[in-house]
Amino acid sequence: MMRQYELVERVRRYNPSANEDLLNRAYVFAMKAHGAQKRASGDPFFSHPLEVAAILTDLKLDDATIVAAVLHDTIEDTNATREEIDAVFGPEIGGLVDGLTKLNRLDFATKHAQQAENFRKLLLAIADDARVLLIKLADRLHNMRTLNFMPEAKRGRIAQDTLDIYAPLAGRMGMQGLRSELEDLAFRYLMPDACGLIMTRLEELKSKNGALIARIAAELTDQFARRGIKVEVKGREKLPYSIWRKMERNSISFEQLSDIYGFRILVSAVADCYAAVGVAHTTWPAVPGRFKDYISTPKQNDYRSIHTTVIGPGSQRVELQIRTYDMHEIAEYGIAAHALYKDSAGHVEPIDAGESRAYRGLRQTIEALASDDSEKFLEHTKLELFQDQVFCFTPKGRLIALPRGATAIDFAYAVHTDVGNSAVGAKINGRIAPLISTLRNGDEVTIVRSDSRTPPAAWDSVVVTGRARAAIRRATREAAKTQYGGLGRQIVERAFSRAGKKFSEAKLRAALSRLARASIDDVFISVGRGELFSADVVRAIYPDFQEDRKAGPALAPGEAGWFGLAKAANLVFRVPGKEENGDPLPLRGVDWDTPVRFAPRGGAVPGERIVGIRTPKDGITIYPIHSPALVEFDDKPEQWLDVRWDLDTATKAHYPTQIQVTTLNEPGALGVISTTIGETGANIDNVVFNPTGPDFQQVRFDLQVFDIQHLNAIIAQLRDKPVVSKVERLSG
Ligand code: MN
Repeated sequence: MMRQYELVERVRRYNPSANEDLLNRAYVFAMKAHGAQKRASGDPFFSHPLEVAAILTDLKLDDATIVAAVLHDTIEDTNATREEIDAVFGPEIGGLVDGLTKLNRLDFATKHAQQAENFRKLLLAIADDARVLLIKLADRLHNMRTLNFMPEAKRGRIAQDTLDIYAPLAGRMGMQGLRSELEDLAFRYLMPDACGLIMTRLEELKSKNGALIARIAAELTDQFARRGIKVEVKGREKLPYSIWRKMERNSISFEQLSDIYGFRILVSAVADCYAAVGVAHTTWPAVPGRFKDYISTPKQNDYRSIHTTVIGPGSQRVELQIRTYDMHEIAEYGIAAHALYKDSAGHVEPIDAGESRAYRGLRQTIEALASDDSEKFLEHTKLELFQDQVFCFTPKGRLIALPRGATAIDFAYAVHTDVGNSAVGAKINGRIAPLISTLRNGDEVTIVRSDSRTPPAAWDSVVVTGRARAAIRRATREAAKTQYGGLGRQIVERAFSRAGKKFSEAKLRAALSRLARASIDDVFISVGRGELFSADVVRAIYPDFQEDRKAGPALAPGEAGWFGLAKAANLVFRVPGKEENGDPLPLRGVDWDTPVRFAPRGGAVPGERIVGIRTPKDGITIYPIHSPALVEFDDKPEQWLDVRWDLDTATKAHYPTQIQVTTLNEPGALGVISTTIGETGANIDNVVFNPTGPDFQQVRFDLQVFDIQHLNAIIAQLRDKPVVSKVERLSG
């Protein structure tokens, strides 16, 4: 295990002004915190954070990163807290360690290979400091190097995550060295047979051609030197995983691989790169189609190099990668290399084309800091990658990517349209939360659903995803169609027949543009909602049509027109509130010394279950058992009276009740209704009009009926009438 002074020495080697005291404190703090904890290998646990820190010293990172690496598992695995680390090491290091703790927790979420891309984005989004990712990658690398100590069952998962998530992440950050090692370690565990085979073949080749590589390298160096270009030639043996991937991708055998041996030609200036290409191509024949200039057009991860393949010394195909030392540094260390860039006089070469937005952001930050003589580049390099997205989980671990500002409603629709349409509530990280809550990275969201399939139309303005908005509009339209479409069709069809015209959908369809509606259903919905007059629909097809009845507004409550109609129907209006004849109500279970009355709105009628409520103010009030008004007395059982009808009393008395009728607004409608009611022997005490549109009315009838059968018969007969679209009993 690395000693305390060794850690300090490693850092001092590249950073003579390192904060020795800080490093020592971190060493002691982590050692005490981890105490006697052991790794799976039997080593003291403390050796792990030290190794992670050592990997990062190879990348020559700043003090804060090294200290955070030493502390990286303390919050997660020991009693240490963020507050404690803040107090001892300051909030900067506290923030880094906290970031790593968050990333570690993500490791427990279920992941699927096809979600790896999203998962990488999540890592980037959560780690708002590039250094957190660097430590995380070093942590993963050490865990992979010691994977053989892990239980067999866990190795596969860890190796697969490494291949799917962490190795590509290292690649994205431009750290090819780290990426290759992660890939190769994972490959050994995941495909031991394929890996073993390739390694055996590589050994065979080496023993056969070992001298050849050295000879080629020597000849290359010599040829470049003769043309006055100083180069460093490095023989590069490909790792088993990259060989295997090439075989897979191109469906070729090991023997067919032409470039198992590659050479890196390192030069000091960009101009030398092109000069070196000239030398290579004039000395040896170039293989057509293999020349790539990533210097003029860098890869998205800032990789720059010239690639070419020639038939080189000994008629061997030789792949050459030609680059400057700076480019090489970036190719190997990526983001980490940028931290060193300040050493080359704050000079960052601009890259023009082919940059991803993410890297442009990173580069701009780096450029902005290039003039700063601060040692700490990455410290200021807050990752602005994927700031426009949030990543959340379903309870089963599925990762859902949403635009920033998305709500739980958006989440529900992203999971499935049905889930969105039936959503009534949400749990975010196990806590009940409103559906309109804005989601944050890493939130686990559970959607609570009901049987209903109609989302509130108001959600339309709350959601941010197009998918959710489209689904909400579709669903509310469907609901409107069901709710208003039928009524509207009824009204339109009757308007046509009143006008003496035959209704036809084809003709209506032809008139849609004149009605400014997109579909026949839209017309019906608009008419049903009272937004469009049925007469206008008729006129859209028959422009000469003149309506002979009064326009809708004439039918406002209390208008003489309605009372005229009522009179024509021989309706007898009784004065509301008139006393009954004084006979005792046919009830059992009431104390007749107390005043007894029916509930003011929609009293009970004989034959239905009733209940009495005793209040000091009103005495006893009789309600139907289903009355919503009873809810108020739910927690006052002492006020409830068990009351029954005394139906032995054979008096044919009337009892008050209320119904609401939705009727087409046309001449004679009220006559039909009142006649129907009158024919059953009921009285109408009062009529209250509630015009809801030009084409139909809601009318409340205060009735006097004999009993529940009588009332039900009235309702059934009214429902039978074509002018009636809806009848409901009111209870109050
Ligand atoms: Mn760790």
